[in-house]
Amino acid sequence: MSFAQEILERVKAKDPAQPEFHQAVMEVVNSLELVLERHPEYRAHKVIERIIEPERVIMFRVPWLDDQGVIQVNRGFRIEMNSAIGPYKGGLRFHPSVNLGILKFLAFEQVFKNALTTLPMGGGKGGSDFDPKGKSDNEVMKFCQSFMTELFRHIGPDTDVPAGDIGVGAREIGYLFGQYKRIMNEFTGVLTGKGLNWGGSLIRPEATGYGAVYFAAEMLKTRNETLEGKICLVSGSGNVAQYTVEKLLHLGGIPVTLSDSSGYIFDPEGIGYEKLEFVKELKNVKRGRIAEYAEKYKSATYFPVDPKLDYNPLWDHKAHCAFPSATQNEINGKDAANLIKNGVYVVSEGANMPTTPEGVDIFLDNKILYGPGKAANAGGVSVSGLEMTQNSMRLRWSREEVDKKLQEIMKNIHDNCYQTAERFGTPGNYVNGANIAGFLKVADAMIDLGVV
Ligand code: NDP
Repeated sequence: MSFAQEILERVKAKDPAQPEFHQAVMEVVNSLELVLERHPEYRAHKVIERIIEPERVIMFRVPWLDDQGVIQVNRGFRIEMNSAIGPYKGGLRFHPSVNLGILKFLAFEQVFKNALTTLPMGGGKGGSDFDPKGKSDNEVMKFCQSFMTELFRHIGPDTDVPAGDIGVGAREIGYLFGQYKRIMNEFTGVLTGKGLNWGGSLIRPEATGYGAVYFAAEMLKTRNETLEGKICLVSGSGNVAQYTVEKLLHLGGIPVTLSDSSGYIFDPEGIGYEKLEFVKELKNVKRGRIAEYAEKYKSATYFPVDPKLDYNPLWDHKAHCAFPSATQNEINGKDAANLIKNGVYVVSEGANMPTTPEGVDIFLDNKILYGPGKAANAGGVSVSGLEMTQNSMRLRWSREEVDKKLQEIMKNIHDNCYQTAERFGTPGNYVNGANIAGFLKVADAMIDLGVV
């Protein structure tokens, strides 16, 4: 049995009910076989055995009163995965599907992603099975206050700095920060994604989507191409999807799809600036459904989710590029084959682990430009890192400055992944490049810090 298989068997035996975590570990450890052959010191220091084990897992009860005065109980989590290169950093996800395994997969990915950003951030992730959809602002506030009433004792600007993720946007970060400040009686940068008037960074809301598009542009540059005139499939319609569409428009791309968990829209005329503003208002203010897009714009067709299908028809349209920006495992083997069949040769993952292992293999076998999430969507946490810097220095950089830094970081991440893949004998394989480059930085720090 190979070392990678041995590790995976061990993880499965210890935590059998965490399939997403197994998947994330398998992907990284497979890439590392190449490294471990050349560097026996990592095995001698048991770096892999240590890196797959969270430094700390916090689970807690979150009781709150709904608008009818009825007591509701949710489950809260924070996974403090690895702090070898900086304070734990990673988002909070509020979604009914949240459980320990999903958050461990996200925290594990975050460790490598944060290392790639070149900024001093360790990895963490947290959240709750609370569903903000359909709740009043008052209910969301009460939930956030209860959640922070436990979380506050575990986090801090130099310890653990959470941010947003699915279901946690500007509104939730506001309520969470308000409660932290109240309990602690201090105004510090303990969360990122804050509002501009109270410590937030310009470009933070845009950063993940913009970054995924910058990463695609860098991959295309290796073939002397640009995004100009490229037809792009985008999934999701939340934070990442919206700003992916916006940056595609800046760079001359033609986004034609968006989705939510109920269905997707296909607009062959392209989702231009005016239509994007409609989507932002619809999703961020009215908290409506993407189906309304097709009611407003007759050029678009709406396709509700069909639970009988074993593939996602959003990925079955003629296009050049795909930007999965909704959730994990949204592209399976069949979807990946459909993308290739339809001419897609650039995939830049805004979401975390949106492609199943079968799908990843199809992308790699077809030698397309495939940017895995831990590299392609690192723009968000990078600007979060820049928000932390600005908070510590008590100053604020302009939009242009932050955007320029974001572009530089995405270029660095791209070049690092590209060169690392080449150095380890798998040119063009950004999966290996990202996993190995991220791992080396964290692993070397872990060895320097001793057995801790
Ligand atoms: P949002 O909550 O803003 O939007 C999520 C979007 O994805 C919504 O359109 C939502 O639809 C859809 N979605 C969520 N879950 C599912 C599901 N199970 N099936 C189908 N559609 C679903 O989240 P973000 O845009 O912030 O996050 C999107 C992805 O990007 C996630 O994978 C996240 O981890 C990743 N990411 C986010 C970063 C950030 O800075 N925000 C940074 C790096 C990665 P609906 O409204 O119906 O639920």
